[in-house]
Amino acid sequence: MTAHPLNERSIKNLAGVHPDLVRVVEQAALRCEVPIVVTEGLRTQDRQKQLKAAGKSWTLNSRHLTGHAVDLVDADNYGYDIPDLDKIAAAMKSAADECGIPIVWGGDWKSKDTPHFELDRKAYPATGVSTGTLVAEKIGTIAKARATIATTVGAGAVVVKEASDAVTGIDTPLVPAVSKGVAETVTNVAGWSKVLAGHDASVFLVGAAVFAGVAGMSWAIAKVRS
Ligand SMILES: [Zn+2]
Repeated sequence: MTAHPLNERSIKNLAGVHPDLVRVVEQAALRCEVPIVVTEGLRTQDRQKQLKAAGKSWTLNSRHLTGHAVDLVDADNYGYDIPDLDKIAAAMKSAADECGIPIVWGGDWKSKDTPHFELDRKAYPATGVSTGTLVAEKIGTIAKARATIATTVGAGAVVVKEASDAVTGIDTPLVPAVSKGVAETVTNVAGWSKVLAGHDASVFLVGAAVFAGVAGMSWAIAKVRS
């Protein structure tokens, strides 16, 4: 069996990882049949958010955020669901046993994550959800609310447009003025929609105001028609 010391990339990716997990990885690399590369160790909140958004992770409470997890693959082919991962897992488990450091392999989970290894939560509870993670979750909630408001404003614009189309063709002197007003409102609503996409909680108030304006305009149109 050839020993494969960790390469430069692996050493760089182990920065910030819990020293006990680093020890297990180092021991495993020396006894594994295939060369191990550490593709990821400590992860930033931003990266975790990106991974979750891309469907590559299902949690914002990843053990990577606290330096309690690493992802390992075969340095020769970087594949995921291949027998090499079993060899890496066997080396990691045997190294962990020898060091007396309990680890968990993602390949043993129901939703398999074969490159993933983490320190056992029972023995290494870490800090739970970090403040950064909570902030990230709040930002996610605001983003969702923003999307809902944009949809509402968009729907309001459609209502005004439809009302405008309906008014066209009615022969009263008021119609041109109302139509012009409606057209301006549609333009404004479209503009506000864009502005809203870039702002935070204050959008609730602006969104409500826009919606009230749209409703008022619809009412005025109904009056003209009747
Ligand atoms: Zn992982």
